[in-house]
Amino acid sequence: MSKTVEKTFQILKELLPNGASLHEPSLKGRELSYVKECIDTGWVSSAGSYVNRFESDLAAITGVKHAIAVVNGTAALHICLKYCGVQAADEVLIPAVTFVATANAVSYCGAVPHFIDSSMETLGVDPIKLGIYLDRILIKKGGYSFNKETGRRVKACIAVHTYGHPVDLDPLIDICKAHYIDLIEDAAESLGSYYKGRHTGGFGDVSSLSFNGNKIVTTGGGGAILTNDSEIASQIKHITTTAKLPHVWDFVHDEVGYNFRLPNINSALGCAQLEQLPGFIEKKRANALKYQEAFKDVDGIKVFCEPAFARSNYWLNVLLLDVGSIEVRNLILKKTNEAGIMTRPVWVLLNKLQMYKDCPKMDLTTASDIEARLINIPSSARLFEM
Ligand SMILES: *Cc1c(COP(=O)(O)O)cnc(C)c1O
Repeated sequence: MSKTVEKTFQILKELLPNGASLHEPSLKGRELSYVKECIDTGWVSSAGSYVNRFESDLAAITGVKHAIAVVNGTAALHICLKYCGVQAADEVLIPAVTFVATANAVSYCGAVPHFIDSSMETLGVDPIKLGIYLDRILIKKGGYSFNKETGRRVKACIAVHTYGHPVDLDPLIDICKAHYIDLIEDAAESLGSYYKGRHTGGFGDVSSLSFNGNKIVTTGGGGAILTNDSEIASQIKHITTTAKLPHVWDFVHDEVGYNFRLPNINSALGCAQLEQLPGFIEKKRANALKYQEAFKDVDGIKVFCEPAFARSNYWLNVLLLDVGSIEVRNLILKKTNEAGIMTRPVWVLLNKLQMYKDCPKMDLTTASDIEARLINIPSSARLFEM
């Protein structure tokens, strides 16, 4: 095992530029000119043409009919849950392996996360294991499914395309339908990733994207909601813009709305970023190939490859130890970070966090295995140009 640690460190040290970070933005397109236009014209805030353009560009790229730009990916998830009718004391199925925002959005609705296991093939939800579990624990009543143990309604499931790798959506869609569960895709990490030739984010009832600084494209901070349903899209637009009724001068709001609209200046940045998306994806896929080649003969560790049905954006590249060991994992993390190479473990499993430790969960064997085997390595689009 110490040989695996040593070899991994050597390869990364030889391959990577000094001070390589996990993921940094590349802002070498028209960002400055679009942002300057906002400043020159004064249209920096909650109105302006870049918001509409950003939304239609997103719809065109993802092939989903409507995109609504919002302040961040967490807010996008919150609104997705709301529009699936998730209410206080409902349960929402989410992977234990995800960023904390997925669970927090559930909490904002007063609902309870119910943690589900992941698959080694996708690093996302394992539909086969989930189907067997749900058949066992759910009972149907009045067009809904209830958790037999807690008595709570299980209203929705959030599928996270972890590190940009699409989950196996077809069987998951069937399982959700069979149990009257709404499917939300957390596509925060999967802009530019395709499942069986179709862009992720178009399969769920609604989906969310993030444009945080570390994501595939950035607006500084931002997010979006995707949906193919025109009625839901206009309701979401309404509620994320303070639920104000159109009127020449009057301030009439017809429900409790949110001030979640993405400002024009951020949208301008986003428009410039989206122009470069195909180039980013090409570079990121090349990064993945380079890593796969470099590690192909190393004993004890492998580079994660996209599932057979997917074309992934390889947002963050993943090293997987053949055999899980938190100790070995931490040795690699320590050695690389001390040498200025930014590497990270997977997020601490959400069911272990203090605020979520009492939430319902299924057997999480694979999630624990992922935790003991996974290391993220530097993956910026321009990584090897620095
Ligand atoms: C980044 C991310 C989010 C949250 O997006 P923010 O824009 O940071 O609020 C949600 N889910 C996943 C899986 C993410 O990676």
